[in-house]
Amino acid sequence: MIIDKAEVIVTSPDRNFVTLKLTTDDGLTGLGDATLNGRELSVVSYLADHVVPLLLGRDAHRIEDAWQFLYRSAYWRRGPVTMAAIAAVDMALWDIKGKAAGMPVYQLLGGASRSGLLAYGHASGKTTEELFDSIRSHQEQGYRAIRVQTGVPGLKSIYGIASNATFEAMEGVRYDHEPAQRGALPNEEDWDTRAYLRHLPGVFEAVRNEFGPELPLLHDAHHRLTPIQAAKLGKALEPYDLFWLEDVTPAENQEALRHVRQHTTTPLAIGEIFNTVWDYQQIIREQLIDYVRSAVTHTGGISHLKKVLDYAAQYQIKSGMHGPTDISPVGMAAAMHLGLSIHNFGIQEYMKHGARTDQVFQQSFTWNDGCLHPGDRPGLGVELDTDEAGKYPYVQAYLPYNRLADGTVHDW
Ligand SMILES: [Mg+2]
Repeated sequence: MIIDKAEVIVTSPDRNFVTLKLTTDDGLTGLGDATLNGRELSVVSYLADHVVPLLLGRDAHRIEDAWQFLYRSAYWRRGPVTMAAIAAVDMALWDIKGKAAGMPVYQLLGGASRSGLLAYGHASGKTTEELFDSIRSHQEQGYRAIRVQTGVPGLKSIYGIASNATFEAMEGVRYDHEPAQRGALPNEEDWDTRAYLRHLPGVFEAVRNEFGPELPLLHDAHHRLTPIQAAKLGKALEPYDLFWLEDVTPAENQEALRHVRQHTTTPLAIGEIFNTVWDYQQIIREQLIDYVRSAVTHTGGISHLKKVLDYAAQYQIKSGMHGPTDISPVGMAAAMHLGLSIHNFGIQEYMKHGARTDQVFQQSFTWNDGCLHPGDRPGLGVELDTDEAGKYPYVQAYLPYNRLADGTVHDW
């Protein structure tokens, strides 16, 4: 089973996606997601210029060997571009192996550890009324766990809040929050940490009063707090029993989480910008987090993220894989197969893709009673319609960034 063709496909049905498609000499195909939001073309070049030539003629069955070869032979290791490229190869090879075996990938990973994957959706509103409407709408769509993001009085535009401008840019496609806007330059948003810390606990109190104690609620602080501010927020939110508080501090400084941990029992989730098990070494060993937020797409694929999650399992730390719309249906399928098979699954982030994306990527997953299941098609269960994909060429789009009132650039 020799890799005989490798194509990098860029398509932008509702947003940009980068997909690697491998074909073997006996005609099996495998797909891998290599989408790096706002920096997509760097991974296209990494794959097309530096990885594709190395794949042709290799044995498609040797997944671990391909991973180690791509990681170690580059000499320059880690980083989002490298790890997204390796992830795409790894996913595509698992897809091929599943098709060769006639089994869904989760069966090859040890079989199902549960009947489905509890998933959370993104509710948001500039005001409490808008937020309540969004929570109700998510419950009507079947969600049984909800991320809550709210506007802050005095701030025009902040992370996590769906805006009309976004809907217009997305040509009417309803994503509850799609931050990457098409255009030549990134959008500027504004930020005031003190205003946010004053406002947020009251919003969670209102949500608990309206929706009751049982609904799992999550919140993303999106890397914007100092350790002491994060500790203060974690303590302030304790009465509202969060499922998790995410990315409270910029994740590069892992020691910061020690300070947060000493002050609050609110569960912490982190890691969507991490790429390797080494990025997690300290925070898992010291039990500074409760959930691993990495995506299969940005962490070297199924093979490597499984190593991270197996390490986390020794410390009762669970998965909470990244799953916004910039994870393609291929990356989402990989997350579902991995999540179904591991013992320490926690929750899966799930934002529905737009109708055009679902036409480009034909999928086999199911969504029932707030839970995802990858389906039982051999491989990952996703096929790419290349004719449909060809209708939507790449469009430049950037994630926004933040400035404080005095003009200082701040973490977004
Ligand atoms: Mg996040």
